[in-house]
Amino acid sequence: MNTIRKDAVWHRRVYLSGWLEESVDTIEVREPATGELIDLVGIARVTHVDDAARVATAAQRPWAESAPNVRASVLRRAAALFEDRKSEILSLLIRESGSIRPKAEFEFTSVLAELHEAASLPTQAEGVLLPSGAPNRLSFARRIPIGVVGAITPWNLPLALAVRCIAPALALGNAVILKPDPKTPISGGLFLAQVFQDAGLPAGLLSVLPGDADIGDALVRHPAIGMISFTGSTGTGRVVGRIAGESLKKVSLELGGNNALIVLDDADLERASSAGAYGSFLHQGQVCVAIGRHFVHRKIAAQYAKLLTERAKNLPVGDPFRQDVALGPIISQQQIEKIDHLVQRTTLAGATLQVGGKYDRLFYQPTVLTEVAPGMATFDHEVFGPVASITVFDDDDEAIHLANLGEYGLSAAVQSQSVSRAMALGRQIKAGMVHINDQTIVYEAHAPFGGLKASGNGSRYGSLTSHEEYTTLQWVTANEVIPGYPF
Ligand code: NAD
Repeated sequence: MNTIRKDAVWHRRVYLSGWLEESVDTIEVREPATGELIDLVGIARVTHVDDAARVATAAQRPWAESAPNVRASVLRRAAALFEDRKSEILSLLIRESGSIRPKAEFEFTSVLAELHEAASLPTQAEGVLLPSGAPNRLSFARRIPIGVVGAITPWNLPLALAVRCIAPALALGNAVILKPDPKTPISGGLFLAQVFQDAGLPAGLLSVLPGDADIGDALVRHPAIGMISFTGSTGTGRVVGRIAGESLKKVSLELGGNNALIVLDDADLERASSAGAYGSFLHQGQVCVAIGRHFVHRKIAAQYAKLLTERAKNLPVGDPFRQDVALGPIISQQQIEKIDHLVQRTTLAGATLQVGGKYDRLFYQPTVLTEVAPGMATFDHEVFGPVASITVFDDDDEAIHLANLGEYGLSAAVQSQSVSRAMALGRQIKAGMVHINDQTIVYEAHAPFGGLKASGNGSRYGSLTSHEEYTTLQWVTANEVIPGYPF
């Protein structure tokens, strides 16, 4: 069945301030579950980055000077349009990124919250009146937009990861050029372009340029782009950070993780294993804050592994658009081979495969490995697949030591019937987010989302920090008359 829609507004096009005429170069957007062609969309050329930067620069100033409520109302209308088109965007997320429906719903709900939070930003009071040593000098610091923001996003939560940057950046007076991953260009960008256009966003303020690393690289290097907001792997983040650093450009890096769940000996094991399964297997483990490593107290480790294995065995895997499944497909052949390679290396190194470790086409079985130790592949590396690695510890200090091994520091969780004991451990974990009596995939649009160590560079998403991220301080002084100087 070929469901390609020649009437879709994004068919063979890119969005550069408006829909460009049918582009010659196109990307085939396919369902990972079936290989079926969803649509052909335009692929941007490097020269488009320059064109988008030019129109963005021209459009940004009047936008920044527009009344706060003008910007807020565009965000509110975009939220209303999203709600109207909910079933369409859910289908796209399910088909294009292989999401199960609850994951697509989670993404959709997060996007609405992001838009509502962003709509409140323009009228928030930000700035400070400063004391001054000079007589009659008015001195204050205010926040001004960065200008043009380049956003580079991955395929795993394509819609939410784009909106969490675009919405606050626009609300605070910036223009945005978005480069979605070429595997998810519609739900990750072109759909959004149409929603914002329909919401009345003035032309030039948003361009969506689907493409590969060359387009991302051109954004990072472009002199008219004042900030790069990058979400993706730590390897690419290092490259982006280096190039942005050379041109002294602000860069926000939200990178990989290999997140720890610590299960203490007094935890409720039914709930702990359910949370553990959700944290490792939601969206086939292709979530930056998924649980990669389960650290379990020796007293309860066998029982926890048994319960988690049972849950993994009972999770149906298949096409999330046509079947009721718990796990959909992995995004690509390259990705599934990488997952399998890491699992095989870990078992070869001595870990025990309790369940899974097999795949058919792009469907990887939920996998549980026990006796995983530091130095083994799934312990040391981000798997980004449905793989739960269990490591046993004997006391709280050992749990912390193990959880803090490795280069990442994104999210962590601790489970215990004693909240104070779990909090005491949580304080020692080097992660940007710690959740007590929960799993690691927790998201709220106002909370500061971000990682430590190789999981980020200190930047944060969430409306609490949006002013800090998408504006910069300007110190202003004003005197009644020009002061006298000795020269
Ligand atoms: P990736 O780094 O390969 O790609 C991310 C984006 O960067 C894509 O749009 C890609 O086209 C672009 N890109 C690739 N090379 C580039 C270059 N040289 N210059 C500029 N842009 C370039 O990441 P991926 O494998 O697609 O995504 C999965 C990774 O993203 C995982 O490591 C995951 O943990 C991470 N992630 C992090 C967060 C977070 O908030 N911390 C959220 C989601 C995903």
